[in-house]
Amino acid sequence: MPQHDLEQPAWLPTLNRWVQGMGLRRTLLLLVAAVWLLSLLISQLVISLIGEGNRMIVAAWVSASAIGFTGLFGYMFLSLVRHLDQAHRNMLRHATQDALTGTYNRRYFLEIVEREWSRAKRYEMSCALLLMDVDHFKQVNDRFGHLCGDQLLRRIADAAAETLRQPDVLARFGGEEFIIFLPHTDPLGALDVAERIRERVEALDFGWNGTPVPVSASLGVAALHDNHVTLDQLISDADEALYSAKSAGRNCVRAGAGLLPGRSSGVTSSR
Ligand code: GH3
Ligand code: MG
Ligand code: MG
Repeated sequence: MPQHDLEQPAWLPTLNRWVQGMGLRRTLLLLVAAVWLLSLLISQLVISLIGEGNRMIVAAWVSASAIGFTGLFGYMFLSLVRHLDQAHRNMLRHATQDALTGTYNRRYFLEIVEREWSRAKRYEMSCALLLMDVDHFKQVNDRFGHLCGDQLLRRIADAAAETLRQPDVLARFGGEEFIIFLPHTDPLGALDVAERIRERVEALDFGWNGTPVPVSASLGVAALHDNHVTLDQLISDADEALYSAKSAGRNCVRAGAGLLPGRSSGVTSSR
């Protein structure tokens, strides 16, 4: 997972993993035993040093308070650690993921890709961007209902994710549109990835209440070149290419103008 700005203190998940592994009760017992022994040791040492005090009474008092207080506050602390770590995970999920498809959300995508994109530009590395829009999705909703549409979006997101490499970044860009950032990918490689995703989506065996639901998607491809000053321009190129794919009849891949040298515009890879 790419770096993000929502880090929690490193010890929190480590401690929580430890508690999870040992179990809350055993961790608490260990903590109580450690504090009890340490308090006993220190109190007896102090008595030896100052040379007065009833060892038995002090031992009883120290044992009762160490066991009582550590048991109570230790339980509260360990429960809090567990709760905080879980709450942080939930917050991270809400802040970065799309609730329906589990892909990244648009805001988080833009945050991480802005960094990746600038790095690619600075070090003159290749990278590309794909925009994918599900074809005639409104008809799917109208004919089979929104639940079916939602389920289909999940399947499409899974299919796209399975086609990608680990460093690629997939996000739901809005509605039935997905965006994919491909670092270290040249234009031909990007066209290839787009075509593989299109084929995967077309081949989805998806049905609703026993009726097959036709599925396809159109994709627009843009690759980083010198004229791109902002990430928005790259996205806009991919958007234009997507628009061409829709105009060309859908279920196809279209590349932005100037993607491949020697070809003027609308370079395609299609059905
Ligand atoms: P085109 O091939 O031109 O893309 O046609 P389309 O029908 O896919 O595009 P259009 O923009 O007309 O309709 C998109 C539909 O996607 C309309 C909207 O209700 C539906 N939609 C957007 N988000 C969701 C969602 O989260 N769940 C469901 N079920 N439908 C959604
Ligand atoms: Mg659509
Ligand atoms: Mg759309």
